Amino acid sequence: MRENRLFSLFESGTIARAYFRAMKTKGKRRCPYCGFRRKVYRLAAGKLKCGRCRRGFTDFTGTRLARVHVPFNTLAYLAHQFVLGTPAFRIHRETGINVKTVERLFRLFRKAIYDDSLAELNKLGGKIELDESMFGGYHAGKRGWGAEGKTIVFGIYKRNGRVTVFPVADRQADTLEPLIKKATRKGSVYYTDDYEAYACVNARGKHVTIIKEKGKPIVEHINGIEGFWSYAKTWLYHYRGVPRKYFHHYLKEIEWRFNNRNEKLFNNLVEILLKTGGVI
Ligand SMILES: [Zn+2]
Repeated sequence: MRENRLFSLFESGTIARAYFRAMKTKGKRRCPYCGFRRKVYRLAAGKLKCGRCRRGFTDFTGTRLARVHVPFNTLAYLAHQFVLGTPAFRIHRETGINVKTVERLFRLFRKAIYDDSLAELNKLGGKIELDESMFGGYHAGKRGWGAEGKTIVFGIYKRNGRVTVFPVADRQADTLEPLIKKATRKGSVYYTDDYEAYACVNARGKHVTIIKEKGKPIVEHINGIEGFWSYAKTWLYHYRGVPRKYFHHYLKEIEWRFNNRNEKLFNNLVEILLKTGGVI
C-alpha cells in the first residue's frame, strides 16, 4: 500500500473500516456459517443476514478481529506501529492510547501470527540447515525471561532464506526428530554440526556434517541459520523484557518478520487477521 493511502487509514474510522472490509470480502460476501454466497442481506449498522441459514453476522465474524472493539483507524495505526516494532509505552506517550489497549492488540497480533505459522506450516525441502541456539540472559530484570533461565530454540533453515523455529525443552533426538519430520521433506540434504542427535536424519536424506575447527567451519557451512539467530537476538534485545509465557509467540513473530522481510508486513498482517479458516 502506498504511504499516503496508509496514513488516511489512521485518520478516519470509516475509511479504515472500508479498507478492512474490502480486504476481507474481496468483492464477494458469503455467510461465515454456511458458506452461502448468493443472498446476503444488509441490515443496519454493518449487520448482515444470510438468505439461506438466516443467521446474523458482520463482515468480521469468524476472523481474528471478531472480538476487537477498538475503532478501525486505531487498529490500523497499531498494526502499523507493531510492524515497525514501536514499544507500547512509547505509543501511549505519543498518542494517549491506553497502554493496556496497545498491549492487548499486540498480543492478539502475535498470537494470530503464531497460529497462522503453525496452520500454514510448509515442509521445507532441498538444502536444509538444522541447528539449535540458546536464548535468554540479556536482562536480569524481573520481567525478562532471561532471569528465569535460558530457552533452547531449534531452527530449520532452507537455503533460500526461509526458516521455521520451535522452542524445545531439550536437544535430545526424541525431541528434535518429530519436529524434523513435521517441518522438512524426505530426500532433503541436511547440513548439521556433529551433534549426535542429528544422526536421525540419515534415514530421511543426505546428511552433511559440518565439523568446526576453532569455531570456524571447514569446507561446508551453516551460515544461513546462524544469520537468523543473530537477527532473532537483535529483535529480542530491542524488545527488552519478553514475558516467558509468551516467548513462543515472540519467536514466531520474528520468524514471520524474517520470512517476509521482502514483503509489505502491514498487508501481510492484515491478511492473517482476516483469515477465517473457511466456514465456521
Ligand atoms: Zn448461512
